[in-house]
Amino acid sequence: MKKVFIETYGCQMNVYDTEIVKSVLGRSGYQLTDQEAEADIVLLNTCSVRDNANRKVYSRIHQIRKGRKGKVQIGVLGCMATNFRKQLLENPKLPIDFIAGPDSYKRLPQLLDDLNGNGKEARNFDVTLSEFETYSDVYPAQGGGVNAWIAVMRGCDNFCTFCVVPYTRGRERSRSPENVADEVKRLAQQGYRQVTLLGQNVNSYRYEGRDFADLLEEVSEVPEIARIRFTSPHPKDFPRRLLRVIAENPKVCKQIHLPLQAGNDRVLEMMNRTYTRKEYLDLVDEIRALCPAMVLSTDIIVGFPTETAAEFEDTVRIMEAVEYDSAFIFKYSERPHTIAQRKFPDDVPEEVKTERIVHLNEIQKRHSYQKNLAHIGQVHEILLEEENTKKSADEFQGRNDGNKIVIIPRGSYRKGQFLNVKITDATPHVLRGEVTEVLEK
Ligand code: SF4
Repeated sequence: MKKVFIETYGCQMNVYDTEIVKSVLGRSGYQLTDQEAEADIVLLNTCSVRDNANRKVYSRIHQIRKGRKGKVQIGVLGCMATNFRKQLLENPKLPIDFIAGPDSYKRLPQLLDDLNGNGKEARNFDVTLSEFETYSDVYPAQGGGVNAWIAVMRGCDNFCTFCVVPYTRGRERSRSPENVADEVKRLAQQGYRQVTLLGQNVNSYRYEGRDFADLLEEVSEVPEIARIRFTSPHPKDFPRRLLRVIAENPKVCKQIHLPLQAGNDRVLEMMNRTYTRKEYLDLVDEIRALCPAMVLSTDIIVGFPTETAAEFEDTVRIMEAVEYDSAFIFKYSERPHTIAQRKFPDDVPEEVKTERIVHLNEIQKRHSYQKNLAHIGQVHEILLEEENTKKSADEFQGRNDGNKIVIIPRGSYRKGQFLNVKITDATPHVLRGEVTEVLEK
C-alpha cells in the first residue's frame, strides 16, 4: 500500500481541498501519512494568489527531491498547477512527476496509476476546469475538532483584475441545499458544533432559484449545529433578505468579512470590484442599522498600479469611518495571467507600498484594540476550541460569536462546550475573561 503525504499552502479552500484529496485517495487504497520522510508520494497542494507561496513551493520541490534521492513521486496540485501548467510541465530542471488542478482530484488515482507503469509517461497532468464539479459526492476527511468547513460553491465569475482565481478555479457552481444539509447532519453526528460555509464568492451561492439566504436557513435547521459562519463573501451580493437572515437567525454568527480592497472609486473600477466607495459605505450602514453589534473585518490591497497618495487617503478615510474589528492588508503584487498584469504596469514603488501598509496596520491595530477594550465588563457566549493556548497549558481558548479569541483559565472544561464568560482584559488580538456560567447547548 503506497503512502501519501500532503502539504497545503494558501487559503481555507485549499485546506478543504486537501481533505477531499485525502478522502479520494483513501477510497482508492492509498495510505495517508503525516511523515514526509516515509511517503512514497508527496503532494503539494499549492496557491497562486501570492508570490511568496509560489516561491515556497518551488524550493520545497527541490528540497524534497534532494532529501529523498529519487525515491519519491512528487505531484503539484491546486492553483499553481492550473496557472503555471506550462512552466511546471516544461521545465526539465523541476523534479516533479505530475500535476493536477482543483477540478481533477477525483482523477488522481488514475493519474497515480499511470505513473506507476500502467500506461502513460511521467510528467502526467490533468488541469481541466469543470463547469460542474462541486465534489458533492466526496465527504472530506475533516480532522476532528469543533468547527467543520464545508465548500458550498466553487469558482468565481467576478474577474477582479488582480486575482487569478477565475482562471485557476473556473466558473461559479453550487451544491444543492439538500446535499449541503446532509453533510452538515453527518458532521453534527460526529460531534461538530459549528460549520463554516466556504466559497470563493460564497454569497453568490445559487442553486435552482435558491440563494445564500435560503442555504443559511436550511443549514440552521440542523439541531446539533449551534453556530454557522461563512467566508468569503463579496460586497455586491448582500441583498436585504440575506442581511436580515444574518442579523436575525440566532445560529448565524454576527460577523461579516467585507473585503474592501481599496477606498477610491477610480482604483475600485480598475480592480473591477463593481461597487463604489459610497455603495460600500451604504452597505456598512445598512448592516449596522440591522445589527449594531455586527463584527466587521476586511481585506485591503495597497499600492495597486497607479494608486496615488490622495487615492490611498480615501482608503484611510474608509478605515477610519468603518473601524473594522480586524483587517488583512497586503501590498499589491503582480500575479501572472491576471488582467492587471496584462494591462497595468506595477508602478507604485516598493517603499511607498511599505509606507502605506505600515500606516494601515497602525490604524487597524488602534481600532482592534479600542473595539476589544469596549468589551471589558460584558458577558460573551464562547465556544471552547483549543485546550492549550500557544503560551500556556493552564489556559483554554474559545471564540465568541464575533469570532474573537477569548482566553479563560483552563479549569475542567472540554472542547465543544459553550460558556458565558465575563471579559476582564483585552489586547488588540485577544480577549480574556472569567467563566460565569456553563451553558447546556
Ligand atoms: S471575487 Fe475577485 S478577489 Fe474574490 S475570488 Fe473572485 S476574482 Fe478573486
